[in-house]
Amino acid sequence: MQLINGNNIAKTFRFKLSELVKQLERPPRLGIIQVGNDEATEIYVGHKVSDAEEVGMQTHVWKKERATYEELRQIIHDFNRNELIDGFLIQFPMPVDGNITSLLKNIAPHKDIDGLNPINLGSLWQGTEGFMPATVRAVLVALEYVARYSDNMYSVEELNPQVSSQHLSEFIEGKDIVIINHSFIVGKPLAALLVNLGGTVSICHHHTKNLKEYTQSADIVITATGKVGLLTSDMISEQAVLIDVGIKQTSDGVKGDVDSLSVQSKAGWLTPVPGGVGPLTRAMLLWNTLEAYTLQNKSHA
Ligand code: NAD
Repeated sequence: MQLINGNNIAKTFRFKLSELVKQLERPPRLGIIQVGNDEATEIYVGHKVSDAEEVGMQTHVWKKERATYEELRQIIHDFNRNELIDGFLIQFPMPVDGNITSLLKNIAPHKDIDGLNPINLGSLWQGTEGFMPATVRAVLVALEYVARYSDNMYSVEELNPQVSSQHLSEFIEGKDIVIINHSFIVGKPLAALLVNLGGTVSICHHHTKNLKEYTQSADIVITATGKVGLLTSDMISEQAVLIDVGIKQTSDGVKGDVDSLSVQSKAGWLTPVPGGVGPLTRAMLLWNTLEAYTLQNKSHA
């Protein structure tokens, strides 16, 4: 089994980004809406801010310990109108009473760098332009890495953060893919992209009757449940590509969904946790911010 080193790829992407940012008229600015201050949220937001600074971008964090639904609606409106914020995201989980999902349609689609607005999710299904969640982009980069390696074209430097390469579509065409997650931030947008790339996709979740029946014949399994060790050797096919998006803080450190010891002599590829999809997601968020900057500046040209 080979590991997909997300830290390495993310580092290369951040370097490419910092070179591009130097050529801009002003630094792009990433907005973050944070409610609550639990430890994990603090860590995630802190990483996003320090990554942005590393590539020369600026951040604007709106943070409150508690917020009402109405306050959130107002801050989304303010961020939409603020010309110095190029793109922004809502940090989940968001401990606010009320249906947060119904607020997401208020995010201006051209600033929606985490692909949360239904317009962007719909665009992904249609196969037209639109922001895709950074995690989804990170998964596609990990798959492109495997595709390039399989074609003997391995070079982290040549990996394409735009994620539309021929390598990826040729690799995905005809593959049986299982996604274990049906959230609007991971499973649903990923399914849209992978179907459009020619994959045969099954979406599984906690109501799926026999998960193993789906996973054991899949060429690619993408799992994002937060259930440590959910995916074991008996559940996968020989040489399967395993993309582990799950993150769970445990007393033993951060763990993923895949039991890496169990699958190591059977799987072909695995994204490790930590050091796989997580750092890639953060890098892709910055690419989305750069794209939002470009859109903003085009509309003001
Ligand atoms: P979520 O709670 O919305 O979704 C969890 C999904 O897992 C659901 O589809 C649920 O049905 C499924 N599930 C739970 N238990 C299951 C089981 N026993 N069998 C089959 N399916 C099961 O959460 P989310 O926001 O989509 O995040 C999911 C996981 O991915 C979390 O661990 C989160 O921390 C992680 N995550 C990681 C990144 C990253 O960048 N690496 C980004 C986003 C989310």
